[in-house]
Amino acid sequence: MRRNPPQLELLGLTIQELTAIVESLGEPRYRARQLFDALYGQRVAELEQISTLPKSLRVRLAAEGYRTGFPAIDQRFISRDGTVRYLVRFSDGQTVETVWMPDGDGAEEGDEPATGSFSPNRRATICLSSQAGCAVNCKFCMTALLGVQRNLTAGEIVGQVLLVLNDQHIEIGRDRINLVFMGQGEPFLNYENFIRAVQLLVEGAAIPESRMTVSTSGIVPRIADFAAEPVRPHLAISLNASNDALRERIMPINRKWKLQDLLEAARQFPLRSRERLTFEYVLLSGVNDAPENAREVVELLRGIRAKVNLIALNPGPEIPFQTPTAAAVDAFQQILIAAGIPAYLRRPRGLDIYAACGQLKRSTTLVSLT
Ligand code: SAH
Ligand code: SF4
Repeated sequence: MRRNPPQLELLGLTIQELTAIVESLGEPRYRARQLFDALYGQRVAELEQISTLPKSLRVRLAAEGYRTGFPAIDQRFISRDGTVRYLVRFSDGQTVETVWMPDGDGAEEGDEPATGSFSPNRRATICLSSQAGCAVNCKFCMTALLGVQRNLTAGEIVGQVLLVLNDQHIEIGRDRINLVFMGQGEPFLNYENFIRAVQLLVEGAAIPESRMTVSTSGIVPRIADFAAEPVRPHLAISLNASNDALRERIMPINRKWKLQDLLEAARQFPLRSRERLTFEYVLLSGVNDAPENAREVVELLRGIRAKVNLIALNPGPEIPFQTPTAAAVDAFQQILIAAGIPAYLRRPRGLDIYAACGQLKRSTTLVSLT
């Protein structure tokens, strides 16, 4: 695994790496476990507040230049559906977005926002960014307009989770939290940091990988690498088109890896029992939403234990596409279902605060979309 950049931030370090630090300071190994648990399990944001460590060690660590590396909340935008879009700031000033989506009754229109009022045994999904911006340049996605600013470190990916869990007063083990790597960025173009973050979240924060899903635009060689990981989330692939000509038009990445390569990698992907590969399909009115496109998707997915998440385009300024009609979405979905492919319509979350899929562009002025 690649090391975090040498900024002496503890978040992002493994138990082995923390052990090396603690030992270099002449302290017993078990202090590393206490530090690991305080960071990832108890989510203590400040070194001075780690009460399981002796004060002398906290002072030593600080004197050596170490800090926890917890990010800060720059802004919160709260949707009428309970979704919260966080603008999260890292130590160099870089910001990204992390989205909190309460499931179930917390998400109903007119409910109080979930912030601070999360009762026991609630369920929610946190959508994480893996890069600041994105280089893949899909034509329907607002994140693409940012370009790629930089990769996030493993500590910065993990930090988003810990920060939001703290802000929402979540207790892992009591509350059920899902993680989706579907925020800003292409996780498979920041592969090592992404995988390291997954391992730390599993081992340190006790969030099982079975509650995590990563979405890729289709970085084909990384799909095979990912398949071989001993600890891995579920996989979702952003298909979004039913033939190469169409996909090339809306996802330039398709020039590098054609649908045939992508679907071959998908076919090779070793699914666990009862696991399905998810394919996301953003429906763009008059572009990829015709019944013929749905029939092509059925052909493409033949032989893959797949399910399809349909997403009607979430509109945004500078996005040159329209949201399809409900009738077109329904017809598309019915063709997939009739062919035996489970197909779900993903309901947009936090549309009013630019928190929905494809809208993450760090907007701070909210132009009405309706
Ligand atoms: N970069 C990764 C993960 C983040 S995007 C990927 O592309 O898979 C998460 C999902 O949002 C993708 O499936 C993408 O196709 C979808 N998406 C992007 N822009 C959208 C938009 N404007 N409306 C609806 N979904 C969009
Ligand atoms: Fe990047 Fe995903 Fe947006 Fe494409 S859809 S530009 S891969 S974030």
